[in-house]
Amino acid sequence: MKKQIAILGSTGSIGTQALQVIDEHPDLFEAYCLTANNRVKELAEQARRYNPAAVVIANEDKYEELKSLLADLPDIKVYAGKQAIDEIVEAGPIDMVLTAMVGFAGLNPTIHAIKAHKGICLANKETLVVAGELICELAQKYHAPIIPVDSEHSAIFQSLAGEGDNEIEKILLTASGGPFRNFTKEQLATVTKADALKHPTWSMGAKITIDSATMMNKGFEVIEAKWLFGVPADKIQVLIHPQSIVHSAVQFADGAVKAQLGVPDMRLPIQYALTYPDRIHLNEDRLDLFKQPLEFFEPDLDKFRCLALAFEAIKKGGNMPCIVNAANEIVNRGFLEDKCGFTQMSDIIEKTMSRVSFSSAPDYDTYVSTDAEARRVATELLGAH
Ligand code: NAD
Ligand code: MG
Repeated sequence: MKKQIAILGSTGSIGTQALQVIDEHPDLFEAYCLTANNRVKELAEQARRYNPAAVVIANEDKYEELKSLLADLPDIKVYAGKQAIDEIVEAGPIDMVLTAMVGFAGLNPTIHAIKAHKGICLANKETLVVAGELICELAQKYHAPIIPVDSEHSAIFQSLAGEGDNEIEKILLTASGGPFRNFTKEQLATVTKADALKHPTWSMGAKITIDSATMMNKGFEVIEAKWLFGVPADKIQVLIHPQSIVHSAVQFADGAVKAQLGVPDMRLPIQYALTYPDRIHLNEDRLDLFKQPLEFFEPDLDKFRCLALAFEAIKKGGNMPCIVNAANEIVNRGFLEDKCGFTQMSDIIEKTMSRVSFSSAPDYDTYVSTDAEARRVATELLGAH
């Protein structure tokens, strides 16, 4: 039986690489459903090629266009709107849901998929940043496994294979450091979006590429690791590793450190999430350890304020990571639209953190209202700049 996969965000960086994995193993996987936000033409082309049972476009204004592009393929059901995404992930035949959309929008479909007992291949880290506690509770209650796709978390997950209940003493979370690793604070103040979009080792969507340049991405990954592996933030160490070869590591009670290494290629963690616990052939470059030295440095929290703010948010807990996520989504887009400079992003996030109502025990509705309030506050601050 082929595994039936729902890919949420199939037109993006992770989504298209997931389809490449399916291409390589058509005997094992089938795309049951593909979804996108706006890009109807790409979505229609994908539908033509992969013949899924359904496609969903989140932007309802694009429904007619998608429908007409697929008019000659009546077997493919066409839907539009956020609610349609929530509903499609519950479809009976789906085995696994790959959450590869961007931002807060990932939260609700992930909750629906968990409640429908689907296996979650989690790329959308914002879901765990915003509502890690809720998601973990639900995953346990509904026996829905969450398998990480993020390369660092996949590396940790792979390092934990076979460890049973052995306690984690420390997680070593690696970071490339982004394009501005060696910049001074003064230089950071004048970098452009074109500079920030040039990631040294990974090719990814625009939002996460900017988050990598500010290192907010690494802050989010600390939060993601806390929830996925049940490890407090003070046992998660961030290491700058410019080569992106050691994808992360785990240290155990006896001092043993297990890591997963490989060339930077997201198809490996995507494929592993789909085949876990099995490993199958992947047609990618093999690691050549003679090629370059492996280096590790401490991150500079004074220079990369976003990473410091993320740590602060974890310490504070409650809805604070949700506030940071929402403010970050606003400034990230603001920076891409030339509405603020690079270093203003962390200033606005910090101010938003101090202005939005804090809740120490949020539930789903709290997350939704916090997200809305934090977006409003951050948007105001962005406009005032
Ligand atoms: P991307 O921008 O390349 O693609 C995003 C996809 O999601 C597109 O298909 C888009 O149509 C869809 N989408 C965007 N907003 C949406 C919305 N509001 N509702 C429904 N669909 C929406 O992004 P990406 O780089 O593939 O990243 C996707 C997720 O995976 C992010 O959460 C990111 O942090 C995470 N991730 C990405 C990488 C990577 O290498 N790209 C690595 C680790 C984690
Ligand atoms: Mg990562």
